[in-house]
Amino acid sequence: MAKSNLDIITGLTDSHTVEFVPGQRVHREVEKPLRVMAEEAAKAGYLLQVCSGYRSFQRQCEIWNEKVTGKRLVLDSQNKPISPKGLTDEELINAILRWSALPATSRHHWGTDIDVIDSSKLQAGITVKLVAEEFETGGPFSDLHDWLDKNMSRFGFFRPYATDRGGVSPERWHLSYAPLAETYLGELTEESVAGVLKKSQLELKSSVLKMLPQIFQRFVLNIDSTGN
Ligand SMILES: [Zn+2]
Repeated sequence: MAKSNLDIITGLTDSHTVEFVPGQRVHREVEKPLRVMAEEAAKAGYLLQVCSGYRSFQRQCEIWNEKVTGKRLVLDSQNKPISPKGLTDEELINAILRWSALPATSRHHWGTDIDVIDSSKLQAGITVKLVAEEFETGGPFSDLHDWLDKNMSRFGFFRPYATDRGGVSPERWHLSYAPLAETYLGELTEESVAGVLKKSQLELKSSVLKMLPQIFQRFVLNIDSTGN
């Protein structure tokens, strides 16, 4: 594999991305299909907004370290805070991985994966939390996502975290551009992830490295299929 591709897949570069909206970048080959899909959604009455696109290794590592050190909440599957005290390293790592990817394995590194909401449903003073209720029937972003269920595959998108497979929690807001994401996932290896992590400031590094084979199976490879 070319070094540059490995850098893309593990979040060490943003050279493959372009700004989609201020503050949010996506892979340069995702921009066009995403804009076309957003235009079609607009015709159906939805304002498709990317609230999270590309994320760097460095940023993912900050999020990870804040969760390990207690500066940021660790949540259980029902979104209730878990106290890191009293957990073994392995328990804490598995709890964090339900909601946050291990740095170097986040699909947001690739620029192919995005979290999307319907910004026409935003209300003043209410912040988006990216929790299941907002995206289920009756929630503000449910109609857009029902439309996406019917239409996104035409533009190449699918939901890697549609169902609870025991790995990453279901995230209805998270879409992935299959043509590129499938290639990147196929090129990501435990060895390359380990190589990047060893050089990083990751908290719980030695425990993570010991657990890497199981983390890789349970949280990286264990996704829903494109359905195509
Ligand atoms: Zn996401």
